[in-house]
Amino acid sequence: MRELKTGADRVETSLDPTDWPEFRALAHRMLDSALDHLEGAADRPVWRPTPQSARDALRAPPPMEPEGAARAAEDLLAHVLPYPTGNTHPRFFGWVHGTGTPGGIVADIMAAAMNANLGGRDHAPILVEKQVIEWMRRIFGFPENASGLILSGTSMATLIAVIAARKAKAPHDVRRAGVRQGANPMVGYTSSEAHSCIAKAFDQCGLGLDALRRVPVRADLTMDVGALRAMIAEDRAAGALPFAVIGAAATVNTGATDDLDALADIAAEENLWFHVDGAFGAVAALSDELRPRLRGIERADSIAFDFHKWMHVQYDAGCVLIRDGEAHLSAFAHGAEYLTGLPRGLGGGKPWFSDYGIELSRGFRALKVWFALKEHGLRRIGEKVEDNVAQAAYLARLVDAHQDLERLGPAPLNIVCFRYAPDGLAGDLDAIQREIVMDLQESGAAAPSTTTIRGRAAIRINITNHRTKMADMDVLVAAVLEMGARYRA
Ligand SMILES: *Cc1c(COP(=O)(O)O)cnc(C)c1O
Repeated sequence: MRELKTGADRVETSLDPTDWPEFRALAHRMLDSALDHLEGAADRPVWRPTPQSARDALRAPPPMEPEGAARAAEDLLAHVLPYPTGNTHPRFFGWVHGTGTPGGIVADIMAAAMNANLGGRDHAPILVEKQVIEWMRRIFGFPENASGLILSGTSMATLIAVIAARKAKAPHDVRRAGVRQGANPMVGYTSSEAHSCIAKAFDQCGLGLDALRRVPVRADLTMDVGALRAMIAEDRAAGALPFAVIGAAATVNTGATDDLDALADIAAEENLWFHVDGAFGAVAALSDELRPRLRGIERADSIAFDFHKWMHVQYDAGCVLIRDGEAHLSAFAHGAEYLTGLPRGLGGGKPWFSDYGIELSRGFRALKVWFALKEHGLRRIGEKVEDNVAQAAYLARLVDAHQDLERLGPAPLNIVCFRYAPDGLAGDLDAIQREIVMDLQESGAAAPSTTTIRGRAAIRINITNHRTKMADMDVLVAAVLEMGARYRA
């Protein structure tokens, strides 16, 4: 075994470039490649399969010896950059994906340069995150003592909110004693259309999946508020402790928004924590025309939403806002002697962001959000939301007008679900919709996803894309009809 050298003869080299001018030239070339990639976003296929050569290159053994930045950059350009998800393309319509902006490249470069840790302490990056949270607090009409956290997305934001709700409403000191789901279990409510991250949060914080009651929906796929009242009464009669209701500001399937004002009323009457899953739909608050549909969101105890979806900030960035900052802090703050704040110096600025969540070390996600909001302005981002809603309405009209297409469910916002169903089409209609979606994706013409609406498979078009134009709807419908024709006898 070689002995560790600890004397003055030890050779000490950092990981910085040995030749800065050469590294600088490489970095400039990579920046140009990144900008080319976005400037040409609409000129490539939406998606293409990753070829075997790239798959093989990405299954190499651990690089024990340096390959150098030039080699790493070359591999990146050859095997990674050409095979993206495709959500930078105007006809990416799958799931709910944001588009990103060129400005995000600038912000991410600077965040990497500063390499800040936003767990806490007193430095400007902390002020940037506080600034973004303060802006969002005002957009959603939350009180001044509200708190918030920038997270990887709405899934994490939901977990934080459910943990805060659990702490606030538990009949005992749940942080000390843990969850005790015995004869009087804590139960929460959300609609049958709610996103799976809510069930995950109940699971992960120890309440259990059964503690999340699924309330049926009405014809418009929003929560049946009468059914919610009945379920709460039933649960109370059976000895359970209802503690939370989770409303949707736009569901992932169809964009249905629950009657948030009615949910706020029930939460107030029943002493429930009222959380809103606004992953993308809450961003409608930036539009004067759409904001009224969110009435009641300002009464929520917590809101989870994403910057990386309808606000077009690069992945990943979401946010939780909590009305009662003290309740938020009391659900997460932990005293550890190596983390105690000091009255001045770098160690100041208590409470720290780490006192409001699970993570201690946290990256500078806030910078790309701050940069995008300053660059584009909230009003303009709201106008892009309106563009997408108008495009979805146009697509719904195209679908309704075509005899071979059938709409599945309402399209109140930016999502349209439909199927290819000409008269006399033989075979498994559900399977055909999924085939058409795979055909579209592999053709590179468009990338929808699939879902089921009331048990029927749908081609699902979600538009959270600032590059999409009305004309893309015509291209999409033509492509669906072309692919669909293959399945006619
Ligand atoms: C995307 C989405 C989520 C989950 O958000 P992530 O940012 O992907 O974690 C939750 N709810 C709804 C309605 C969504 O669309």
